[in-house]
Amino acid sequence: MPQSSTFPNPNWGAQPAGAFAPSPDFTDAELDAALAQANLPILLGSLALLTGDDQWISEPYLPTAPKDLGDHDSGGFDEATAAQIRAHARIILRGWRAGETTVPAEPPAPERIASILSVMLAEPIAPEYGRLLAEEMGLAPRHSEPAVPPSTPFHVVIIGAGISGLAMAIRLGQAGIDYTIVDKNDSVGGTWHENTYPGCGVDTPSYLYALSFDPKPDWSAYFAPQSELDAYWNDLADRHDVHAHARLQTKVHVASYDEATSSWNVTIGSADGDHPSETLTADVVISAVGLLNQPSVPNIPGLDAFAGPALHTARWDDSIDLTGKSVAVIGTGASAMQFVPASSTIADHVTVFQRTPQWAMPHPLKGKPVDDASRFLNAHVPFYVAWYRSRLFWRMGDKVWKLLQVDPDYPHLGRAVNKANDRLRAHLTEYIEHELAEHPELLAESVPDYPPYGKRLLIDAGWFSTLTRDNVELVTANIETVTVTGVRTADGVDHDADVLVLATGFKAVDVLGSIEVKGRDGRDLHEVWGEGDGRAYLGITVPGFPNFFCLYGPNTNTGHGGTVIAGTEMQVQHVTALVATMIDRQLASVEVRADVHDAYNAELDAAMARTVWDYGGTTTYYRNDRGRIVTNSPWRYIDYWARVHEPDEADYIVTEKTAAPVTSEPSTR
Ligand code: NAP
Repeated sequence: MPQSSTFPNPNWGAQPAGAFAPSPDFTDAELDAALAQANLPILLGSLALLTGDDQWISEPYLPTAPKDLGDHDSGGFDEATAAQIRAHARIILRGWRAGETTVPAEPPAPERIASILSVMLAEPIAPEYGRLLAEEMGLAPRHSEPAVPPSTPFHVVIIGAGISGLAMAIRLGQAGIDYTIVDKNDSVGGTWHENTYPGCGVDTPSYLYALSFDPKPDWSAYFAPQSELDAYWNDLADRHDVHAHARLQTKVHVASYDEATSSWNVTIGSADGDHPSETLTADVVISAVGLLNQPSVPNIPGLDAFAGPALHTARWDDSIDLTGKSVAVIGTGASAMQFVPASSTIADHVTVFQRTPQWAMPHPLKGKPVDDASRFLNAHVPFYVAWYRSRLFWRMGDKVWKLLQVDPDYPHLGRAVNKANDRLRAHLTEYIEHELAEHPELLAESVPDYPPYGKRLLIDAGWFSTLTRDNVELVTANIETVTVTGVRTADGVDHDADVLVLATGFKAVDVLGSIEVKGRDGRDLHEVWGEGDGRAYLGITVPGFPNFFCLYGPNTNTGHGGTVIAGTEMQVQHVTALVATMIDRQLASVEVRADVHDAYNAELDAAMARTVWDYGGTTTYYRNDRGRIVTNSPWRYIDYWARVHEPDEADYIVTEKTAAPVTSEPSTR
């Protein structure tokens, strides 16, 4: 068996032991069947890394560029070349199975990773992406650990056991750092545990929506349903022994910093109680409370009067059977995009109340199961699933970032923010026109007047075709009031319903709103920030709050695309590296310098001012009452990664356990 517990090769230093490794346990027949359906550009990239030989990314093995968001399996090769590629792959992979071909001892240079991807996609990808891509592929380290285990007890409390809390917990566990993870729910998984409405699933491709260092090679669908995501996060928690550190059904009341001991007191109690019953002490507290989990209940008169069940999508009640019911849905965002098509096949009638139409993009793989061949290749061919992920990461991430940047000289500002954004607008408009060709009255209400990406761009889950169903009605008149029997609109029409569903989103600008945090001198984080106006250095840390870090904090939501998981992992790496430094150097506290924090935020504001969100014209949960974009990051992944992947100690004021601060610049906050 050529595999070690550390794939791809221990010398690469890529991952702690226990990470995903492809299995050489397969038959010739299984291999042949899968190769017949393989994605040829990805197969070539895999052979290039496995053999260390660039002949697989040179003439005559140069694929053409994909034309749409699909996988472009053929690579544009003619039959003869495709057959040659499969034949070579068969020999090499059999050799790998037999231990005759082994992964090169030396890791590929980062530039080679970028250049292989560039060949696979037939487009330029800057060499600077190499290291980031290698980390995303699980081929280069994105983890830190103390040089030696802590000599004195060191404890971390993580608040929240959703995606970011679990990623943090797993990394701390791998680094040998003791932690407790607290969550109000009875299970880990956060969003994917809480949201169970009909149709709920991920609208980011599944293969991007997994940890780089513990991917899932066998997703059932290209866009996985909620139950599978919930199972993935629970399985991770099981395999990485997170449950042994977990306090579930437990609410954090207050986290307060004790200056005398440079530690935090975290008061906790049962999730359904109003009072804390216990205090945990921590050297470091990490908030992983998420961004999209405090339901926003609209201020519509009469909501309490409705006689039937009225519920928010994020608080779904599985006992509600929509069969034969008339359902009123308020909202047309990402949650409604999934709920409305799903409920329309169960309910008797669905009325959709739309305040603003949404841009939604077709995706060739939406709704498609992952076939057996792809699952085999992901599980057994070295680097295959990693390349698949990296190509999604690029194509759905930084490749599209420029579409969101305002060109002040663009003559059609308003409908679009630049030429490429306008081209996308034309493409999406054409798509809506095609979908609603037979329904001019729906078409007139369905083309947004704001630029694409002004609100989160959605993947079409059958929205437009659902609107054309006989049992679905789109209402665009303003809602006046909710009544006992339904919803009355401003045109005086009563729309009766048995069930009222609020697909009205979340209080996203209330960052960390579910916890009270008291820093140095008892200062309250939310008072320091002002209502709905959170700011942090790198979205991670705030002056006056030593040893306190946020994951998915202010201005870290990557609104251009890609995956929340990549940004979260980068933050996890930054925090783990800081914690490892604290342990190694016996530091009592680490606190970001106020000037560094302020300079970062000034840069962020300037970058934000160039984005489609700041351009205005849309209502969006990204923006607070004062008009500032609080949730989203203006950076490309590569820019953010360059800032966070290695903490710069000069950015921080640190104190040693027994001594005065070793850098000056006391906080002014
Ligand atoms: P959302 O995008 O904020 O959409 C809320 C909807 O409710 C909007 O259409 C909004 O209209 C409408 N609304 C709010 N208050 C209203 C009122 N008083 N009267 C009428 N309409 C009202 O919320 P969401 O759909 O829950 O999505 C939030 C985020 O969650 C997404 O952007 C995404 O990041 C995440 N999410 C992800 C997935 C996934 O598949 N990965 C699925 C669901 C959610 P306006 O547009 O006019 O404000």
